[in-house]
Amino acid sequence: MGLLYLGTPMDWHDAKQHADHVRFHGITQFLHIWDKLKDRHGDELLWGDEVEYMVVAIDDENKSAVLSLRQTEILAKLSSIVSGISAECPETVAVPTFHPEYGRYMLEATPGSPYTGSIPDLLSVEANMRYRRVLARQHLKANEIPLTVTSFPLLGVPGPFTEPYFDPVDAKSSHSLFLPEEITNPHVRFPTLTANIRQRRGSKVAINLPIFFDSNTPRPFVDPTIPWDRNKYSEDHEAKDGAALTDHIYMDAMGFGMGCCCLQLTFQACHVGDARRMYDCLIPIGPILLALTAASPIWRGYLADVDCRWNVIAGSVDDRTEEERGLKPLKESRFLIPKSRYDSVDLYISTDSRNRPEYNDNPLPYDENIYGRLRGHGIDDLLAKHVSHLFIRDPLVVFTETLDQDDEHSSDHFENIQSTNWQTLRFKPPPPKSSIGWRVEFRSMEVQMTDFENAAFAVFVVLLSRAILTFNINFYIPISKVDENMARAQRRDAAQSGKFFFRKNVNSPPQSAASSAPSSSCNSGCNSPVLGPKAKKMRNCFPEPPLPEDASLHVPIEEEYEEMTMDEIMNGKAGSYPGLLPLVITYLETLDMEPDELSRINTYLDLVRRRANGSLLTPATWIRNFVRAHPAYKHDSVVSREINYDLIVAIDEIERGVRKASDLLPEDYTGSKEDSGSIGL
Ligand code: ADP
Ligand code: MG
Ligand code: MG
Ligand code: MG
Ligand code: MG
Ligand code: MG
Repeated sequence: MGLLYLGTPMDWHDAKQHADHVRFHGITQFLHIWDKLKDRHGDELLWGDEVEYMVVAIDDENKSAVLSLRQTEILAKLSSIVSGISAECPETVAVPTFHPEYGRYMLEATPGSPYTGSIPDLLSVEANMRYRRVLARQHLKANEIPLTVTSFPLLGVPGPFTEPYFDPVDAKSSHSLFLPEEITNPHVRFPTLTANIRQRRGSKVAINLPIFFDSNTPRPFVDPTIPWDRNKYSEDHEAKDGAALTDHIYMDAMGFGMGCCCLQLTFQACHVGDARRMYDCLIPIGPILLALTAASPIWRGYLADVDCRWNVIAGSVDDRTEEERGLKPLKESRFLIPKSRYDSVDLYISTDSRNRPEYNDNPLPYDENIYGRLRGHGIDDLLAKHVSHLFIRDPLVVFTETLDQDDEHSSDHFENIQSTNWQTLRFKPPPPKSSIGWRVEFRSMEVQMTDFENAAFAVFVVLLSRAILTFNINFYIPISKVDENMARAQRRDAAQSGKFFFRKNVNSPPQSAASSAPSSSCNSGCNSPVLGPKAKKMRNCFPEPPLPEDASLHVPIEEEYEEMTMDEIMNGKAGSYPGLLPLVITYLETLDMEPDELSRINTYLDLVRRRANGSLLTPATWIRNFVRAHPAYKHDSVVSREINYDLIVAIDEIERGVRKASDLLPEDYTGSKEDSGSIGL
C-alpha cells in the first residue's frame, strides 16, 4: 500500500488546501526522474510477486472461523525472525519480507529480493511462496492460519467476525453500518485515507453487488441484516434513502474492498520504451486473467452473482464528488470523471506505431496545465496524457511534516498521487537514489488458495510477457472493449460461460520460432541475438517493433477483433488465432532448458490450460459449489457461520494437501505439508 510515513496526517478540509502544492511538486519530482533516467538502458529482467494473506482464527469447538486482528504483533515477530535468518545465511536465502496491508487481519509477503530471468529462479517461485507461508504460520497462534482467500465470507455480517470482537457502532473513520474501526490497520495513514475518501465524496462509499438468486432466496431481496434505522452517524440514513439497492448486497466502507487479497506481479524492463510496450501488451490480458483467477463469490455473508473483487474495491475507494460523477453540473469540481481511482487503465502509452490512436477510445479527462508542463519539458503526447490523467486526482493523505520536500531527491509527492491510482496496470518510474529501473506492475489477478496456483499464474504471466515482446505480438483492441471485458470478467462463471473481445490477427511467430525465425537483434543496445541460439535465461532483449504499416492496408478496427471464449483465448482457435498458451510454448522453445525444468513449467501451464478449458474450476466456482452442496445451506444465498467454518477449514486442508479437491487442482498436487520440515530455496 505504498510508503508508511509516521507523521501528522491532515483531515480532508486541510489536505485539500494543499492539493495543488502536492500535484505541482509531484510533477517537478517526476520531471527530475525523467531527466535523469529517460535514457537509462540495459536493466535486466528482475521481477517479483506480492501475495496477500488473511489471518483467520479457528475455534473448532464452536465451529467458528473469524479474522484475527493481530497484524501488528505478527508483523513485529516476523520482522525480527526474518532479520535473524538473514544474519545467519545472507548469501543462500533471499529472505522474504512481510508488509502491512489495509486490513488489520492482513499480511503481504514478497520475495526478499526480486527474481532474475534465470530458469532456476522461475522454478523457485513456488518454493519461495511456500516458504513465506511457513514463516507466517510459524508466527501465528496454534489456532490461527494464513489463508490466501480473496474475500472473507463473513466480513460485515451481524455479530462477531473478528477476534477480538468490536462493535461497528464506533467506526469513526468510515461511519460504516457493518465494519468496526478496528478492522483497519491502525497506522494513521489508513484511517485517514478512509475518512478523507468519505469526506471528499460527500457521502459514504456505496457498493451494490447483485445477489445470487437461489431457489429459496426471497424475491425481491431486501436485506434483513442491514441496520436500516440506525441513527448514530449523519450518513446512517443513506442506506434507506437509496444507497442500498434491492436485490443487491450493499457495502458501505473502504474495508470491504481494500480488505481483499490479491496477487500482483512487477517486472523491470530494459528501458522506458520497453516498459511502455509491456504495459500496453498486458492491458488486454488484465480482464482475461481476472476471470481465470476469479475467487470471490461471497460477500457480507451472501452468495453474489459475481465471482471477483474488482468492482467492490473500485467502489470502496470511490472518492469522486457528485459533480465528478456527473450527478450535478460542474461547479466546485474541475472534471467529469468516469471512473473511480481504483479501476482499469484508460490509455495505451507505447510509442510503437501499431498503437493506433483509434485504440485509445475512452474519455480521458486530464489536467491541461500539467499536460502543458510535461509537453514543454519534451515529454511525448501519450506519456504526458498518462501522467496528467493520473493527476486529475487529489492527494488523499497529506502529512504536515513532509509538505516541503527536496524535489530532486524525493518522489513522495509524485508517489502520493501515483500510488493512489490503483489500476489494472501500473507504470512505475524508477525511484530516485536507487538502482531500480522502469517497471510495470500487473494488478488484476485474485489471490489463489494454494501457492501452486499462485506460482502457476506468476510463471504464466512472466513467460507471456516475454513471448509477446520477443515475437512482437500485437494484442491491441480498443481500450473501451478492454473495459467491457473487465465487466464481463466479474460475472458469475465468466471463465466458462463468458465471451471476451480479443484480437484475431496477432501476427504470431512461425510454429517453431526457435529454429526457423531469423536471429533478430535486440532493441536494447546489448548486441545479443534475441532468437536463434537458445538462451539460458529469459532476457530483456527484444527485437525492434515493426516499422509502421501502410495505413491504407488497415482493416476497419471492428474487424480486428471478435468475441472469443476463454478456452479460445488461452488455447487457441483453429485456423486463425494461436492462443496465449501456444505462444508461451513457442517462446519456451527459444530457451535452453533441461527436460525436468520444462516438465515442471508444464505443470504450471497445465493448470492454466485446464482452468481455461473447464476441466478444472476457478476458486470462485469451487467455493460456490461447496456452499451450495453444504448440508446446512438452505438455498437462500445465505452463507452461515457454520458453512463459513467448514469452508475455511476445507480451504486450509486443501492447501496443506490433507484433503483432495480434484475438480480444483491436479491429481498429483501434494500441498504444503511436505514442506513444513526443511525448506530449501
Ligand atoms: P508495491 O506494494 O508498491 O506494489 P512491493 O514493494 O510490495 O510494491 O512489491 C513489488 C515487487 O517488485 C516485489 O515482488 C519485489 O520483489 C519486486 N521488485 C523489487 N525490485 C524490483 C525491480 N528492480 N524490478 C522488478 N521487480 C522488483
Ligand atoms: Mg498489497
Ligand atoms: Mg506491496
Ligand atoms: Mg501494494
Ligand atoms: Mg508497497
Ligand atoms: Mg503492488
